[in-house]
Amino acid sequence: MSACFSKKLVLILILLSFFTLSAEKKFRVVIDPGHGGKNPGAVSGNLLEKNLTLAMALKIRAFFRKHPVQNVEIFFTRTDDVSMSIKERVEFIEEIKPDLFISLHFNSQKVLATNSGFEIYYPPDLIAKELKTTALFYDRTNISFYYGSLFRELYFKANLQTTWKLQMNMFAQKYNFGLFDNTTVPGLLLEIAYISSPEDRACIENPGFTADVAWYIYDAIIKISDKNN
Ligand SMILES: [Zn+2]
Repeated sequence: MSACFSKKLVLILILLSFFTLSAEKKFRVVIDPGHGGKNPGAVSGNLLEKNLTLAMALKIRAFFRKHPVQNVEIFFTRTDDVSMSIKERVEFIEEIKPDLFISLHFNSQKVLATNSGFEIYYPPDLIAKELKTTALFYDRTNISFYYGSLFRELYFKANLQTTWKLQMNMFAQKYNFGLFDNTTVPGLLLEIAYISSPEDRACIENPGFTADVAWYIYDAIIKISDKNN
């Protein structure tokens, strides 16, 4: 084999492995249903936040199983009614280092029952010093903001506002949220509705609501992963 030919062969092999690697690079997402086990989260009558977030996560999983997506890999911090500390969730996320994690919650306002609607939060710029270098590497605040704005845009297209009269209430940075403060990768916190609001509760208690919101989240993940390619 001539030196020139073997050089060419090596180059072809390098290029091939590069293209194979990039073709296999999946958009990794961690879904984190808030609370669980001994921690019910917000409570209103017989509605427990931990059950609502789990039901939403399982519905999202069902959609990914029924309609698999080639370039998306999805993980769940919990798929049962188990207790899980913030530290354990952080460790789970940092172990996987996903392209995006989505923490699912339902909001509650103890004083005012008038707060209602869907809220999207992204991480603040300021995080613990020791995490900062890694977080800067991921440019996580900007990326989270970008993904959050796509979620927001798709929210209106998903007709949740018209079908469920569930207003988009907020798109903002969230301070003092353990998952944001101790992770380094892009993340979003979705406060799906207020269980303290009678209007929102009427939506939540409707059997079609979970599937509609889960489908919106499933669809948003696919569209975000497409833009990321
Ligand atoms: Zn919560």
